[in-house]
Amino acid sequence: MATTKRDYYEVLGVSRGAAEEEIKRSYRKLAVKFHPDKNPDDPDAEEKFKEIGEAYDVLMDADKRAAYDRYGHAAFAQGSGGFGRGGFHDPFDIFREVFGGGGGMGGGIFETFFGGGAGVDREGRQRGSDLRYDMQITLEEAAFGTDKEIEVRKLDRCEKCNGSGAEAGSRAINCPTCGGRGQVISSRGFFQVSQTCPRCRGAGQIIDKPCRVCDGEGRVEKTSRIKLKIPAGIADGSRLRSSQNGEAGIRGGPPGDLYVVIHVKEHPIFQREDDDLFCEVPIPFAVAALGGEIAVPTLEGRAMLKVPAGTQSAQIFKLRGRGILNVNGRDRGDLLARVIVEVPSRLNAEQRKKLEEFAELCGDENTPLHKSFFERAKEFFQ
Ligand SMILES: [Zn+2]
Ligand SMILES: [Zn+2]
Repeated sequence: MATTKRDYYEVLGVSRGAAEEEIKRSYRKLAVKFHPDKNPDDPDAEEKFKEIGEAYDVLMDADKRAAYDRYGHAAFAQGSGGFGRGGFHDPFDIFREVFGGGGGMGGGIFETFFGGGAGVDREGRQRGSDLRYDMQITLEEAAFGTDKEIEVRKLDRCEKCNGSGAEAGSRAINCPTCGGRGQVISSRGFFQVSQTCPRCRGAGQIIDKPCRVCDGEGRVEKTSRIKLKIPAGIADGSRLRSSQNGEAGIRGGPPGDLYVVIHVKEHPIFQREDDDLFCEVPIPFAVAALGGEIAVPTLEGRAMLKVPAGTQSAQIFKLRGRGILNVNGRDRGDLLARVIVEVPSRLNAEQRKKLEEFAELCGDENTPLHKSFFERAKEFFQ
């Protein structure tokens, strides 16, 4: 009877002045410890679990707590009016309120403690999974941005039941497989393992007449076309989020998101370094020596570049603002053209003669790099 009950504060191991947070914290710890799924063959644990659930139920309700503080267990004795409800609600329900609900979709503590059953609420709603889609784009598309439409085969909301998973006129009943617990015990070798109930997915409830199109899931596999805006300046490896375009939720739960991972294809001419572009441009050696204008490729077509007389191979010329627009939309990078001086590989007789004459005229005078190099290298040649 009432007098044999332990004090609720003692049950939860908190002081009489304990704040709500403290009570919650203590309850969680004890509930995890004594949860029947973790102590399958221990009737004491189940009793304790019920006891702490009952204590929690009272101490978390300001009115009930005040009544308890004043009258003790007598406040809830059957037929005494006040809070007599013929008992307390199912402790498993409290458990789910604390761990599964509240935190809402997406796992939360429930998942962390028991694995699986992530974010299933009591109506069996569950957020859909996030999906990943890998997309290849060209450097030009990355530079200027583009609109894409992709086709994704995924679980989408069932139109027949509008995602609810229920036939018209059906209702929610306790899951017969797990008896409403949401968890089932199975044996693996010597161990007994508590698992999310496969039938209700941990919700504890099922629909008595599930939608025939989606089998009660509220979602079916479909091919969807999804429009994506690829912003100018996007970098290789960037991840774009297409909100709510992931898998549909179960039984009307919110959809997941679609993450699009961008892969920028290698370009035959340009290499990208942040917002700058690099390219190599071969130029005839006479132009390098005499100076002149050369054509340089850019993302917008060819540009003309003046190179001065005496240009050396590997010299880099900067075309300001001809790189890639920064993804924040403000500055544009530069194009860096590295010139490669090309030496003619075949000379006809006349060309050869002129070049020999040229070499004779130059002597040692016109090769400043060559000269200083051999000054520095002298000691190696003794
Ligand atoms: Zn349906
Ligand atoms: Zn079940």
